[in-house]
Amino acid sequence: MTKCFYCRNQAVTFRPYSGEYLCKSCFLKSVERKVQRTINKYSLLEETDIVAVAVSGGKDSLTLLTILNKLERHFHETKLIAVTIDEGIKNYREESLKFAESVASKLKIPHKVYSFKKLFGYDFDEVISILREHGLDESSPCSYCGILRRAALNIAAKDVGATKLATAHNLDDEAQTVIMNFLRADYIRALRTGPRLEKIHAGFIPRVKPLIEIPEREIILYAYFSNLPLHTQTCPYAQDAFRNDVRAFLNKMELTRPEVKYNILRINDRLRSVYTCLERELDLNTCIVCGEPTAQELCKKCELLKILDEIRAGTRKT
Ligand SMILES: [Zn+2]
Ligand SMILES: [Zn+2]
Repeated sequence: MTKCFYCRNQAVTFRPYSGEYLCKSCFLKSVERKVQRTINKYSLLEETDIVAVAVSGGKDSLTLLTILNKLERHFHETKLIAVTIDEGIKNYREESLKFAESVASKLKIPHKVYSFKKLFGYDFDEVISILREHGLDESSPCSYCGILRRAALNIAAKDVGATKLATAHNLDDEAQTVIMNFLRADYIRALRTGPRLEKIHAGFIPRVKPLIEIPEREIILYAYFSNLPLHTQTCPYAQDAFRNDVRAFLNKMELTRPEVKYNILRINDRLRSVYTCLERELDLNTCIVCGEPTAQELCKKCELLKILDEIRAGTRKT
């Protein structure tokens, strides 16, 4: 039997990047400590913050809510509110919505659900079927969903009076995003990727990613050991081929170079701090239709809704 590096109990997992064997209880504590260190290192949360936690009901977001709730006992004044975006995707969102509801209520954290339908007038199923029917689905469904979900989360965070919006991006998500930005030579987006996104507009709730230093594999394990419900339905639209390629590449690299994903995070931190002079380019305007922050005159969400509304009204010129 392999023993835990810290307490000599039976080890249940091994961390290739640090060489540690850990028992269940030392593993859980170590993940929580690591999240606390990330929060401190990047000044993600302050004592007086009201934190909207984006909870989709998947393993990452349920883990985030559970850990923040534990840490919050140390940050006495920090207030947590769980917010869930219901995109309106049949046979996918129903189960995770229930999980979000049940975990939030078990932790006694207030929970609010915001739907695309109510906010924007369309379910995501309708958005995609309209775009497909008119041959307008040039990008992957994930990118349209991302546009609407980002907008919805900002609206939700403002609605609950939050001063920060916490999302559950993990080390794998972040490393993939950094590499994708590099491969697209997209430096504006590269500068926007990181553990915290500042208040770059009066109507923008700053975003923080407390799980950014936790590998996906450890989140799965944390959720499992914490008896969090496991979302089994997969999104019918998930088909981000670019991300899938990058994910496979990084996972392969990691087999022989266990620290590679952390190194990607480090180099991105470095680049961001060196290129802060470019940050002025990140200044945002106010969308002329909805008043949300945007880089153009009209935000991406309103641009998409305009197309959908014109199709529905039969006024769209082709
Ligand atoms: Zn131990
Ligand atoms: Zn807008």
